[in-house]
Amino acid sequence: MNYQNTLAFAQEQDQQDPLRYFKERFYAPQVNKQDAIYFCGNSLGLQPKSAQMYIDNEMYKWANLAVEGHFKGNEPWFNYHELLAGGAARVVGAKPEEVVIMNQLTVNLHLMLVSFYRPEGKRYKIITEAGAFPSDQYALETQTRFHGYNPDEAVIELAPREGEHTLRTEDILQSIKDNAEELALVMMGGINYYTGQVFDMEAITKAGHEAGAVVGFDLAHAAGNIPVKLHDWDVDFAVWCTYKYLNSGPGGTSGVFVHERHANNPDLPRFAGWWGHDAKERFKMRKGFMPMPGAEGWQVSNGQILPMAVHRASLEIFDEAGIENMRLKSEKLTGYLEYLIDDVHAGNEVMEMITPRDPKARGAQISILVKKDAKLLFNKLMEAGIIVDYREPNVIRVAPTPLYNSFEEVYRFSEILHECLQK
Ligand SMILES: *Cc1c(COP(=O)(O)O)cnc(C)c1O
Repeated sequence: MNYQNTLAFAQEQDQQDPLRYFKERFYAPQVNKQDAIYFCGNSLGLQPKSAQMYIDNEMYKWANLAVEGHFKGNEPWFNYHELLAGGAARVVGAKPEEVVIMNQLTVNLHLMLVSFYRPEGKRYKIITEAGAFPSDQYALETQTRFHGYNPDEAVIELAPREGEHTLRTEDILQSIKDNAEELALVMMGGINYYTGQVFDMEAITKAGHEAGAVVGFDLAHAAGNIPVKLHDWDVDFAVWCTYKYLNSGPGGTSGVFVHERHANNPDLPRFAGWWGHDAKERFKMRKGFMPMPGAEGWQVSNGQILPMAVHRASLEIFDEAGIENMRLKSEKLTGYLEYLIDDVHAGNEVMEMITPRDPKARGAQISILVKKDAKLLFNKLMEAGIIVDYREPNVIRVAPTPLYNSFEEVYRFSEILHECLQK
């Protein structure tokens, strides 16, 4: 694409953008009594205006039906989660029965590791990316310890080559091969939260399976950001949160994918609760766990209706917009951000982009490593009404999202960035 560093160009792109009206479906946060430029959807997505109505419906049912709301009225709570599976499955490329919405991300990761990290004999190692989100690191550390291993030995962290910021796919695949005999699990992010690098999930899954290992992904930064095809790629399991690109509210609910190869296997070990028990038998309160088929068989507790109601509002917007359409815009929008950063700051030694240059190897986010006074620059941007985020030790993450960000906002960002660097 031929970009131009002019406001007119940015506005023209906005006029041609078929998704431009979706911005009006979200509340804009305010800074200095003005709409902020919000490039932080990778951390907490904006509130869909429709979310309130979905919440109100459930509050109304609770007020008027109380306990009867579980089985009576519109959309009884007993199977409310079923209303979400289709939309969520379309976002992650799964069959609806392979997906369940429940709990929160790290909780679900542990539940998946219980079923899918089952070390045996020589096979006990886990391959993951170095610098994974801390929650994932702690999950792997404590799961390996739980099985009696030393995490320093059992968890293999793949780091970029000397002088590079991101992992090469060839190196990931080679490492899987090299460790084939001892490998129990490959468990990585779909997109690394720090660098914004998209991992080649299809190739990694194939290599993992050839090595005789199970393969799972944490899609916290991928779900709702890039199209993924969990079923077709033959991924064993995946988990994601819904409050980042999926705009489903602080501490929102989470998604789980279990490939149908496993999902319908009642003998797969798991930590069970009554909500995963055969729905027809659930209220008979009998002894003996019988898992439901599909990912629903991993449910533990009764559904969190209010967070799920918000998620529903959001998933309807995703269905309207279409994840493939969003990706088309997203590549252009983030490409424009990259172009402007390069153009305005050519020869600037202070900033370095650590996100891959290849549009296919990144999502919406660009991570800028700031070599001098990173925190100061971040503070200046925030004061100027640009909401981005800062990750220790010196990275500013900028994530224009296709649903509610515009080319004009990207243009304004680069102007303000320029001003902040001059000062
Ligand atoms: C955001 C994020 C989390 C957060 O975990 P919660 O359980 O939702 O608090 C975990 N892992 C990754 C990779 C993340 O990006």
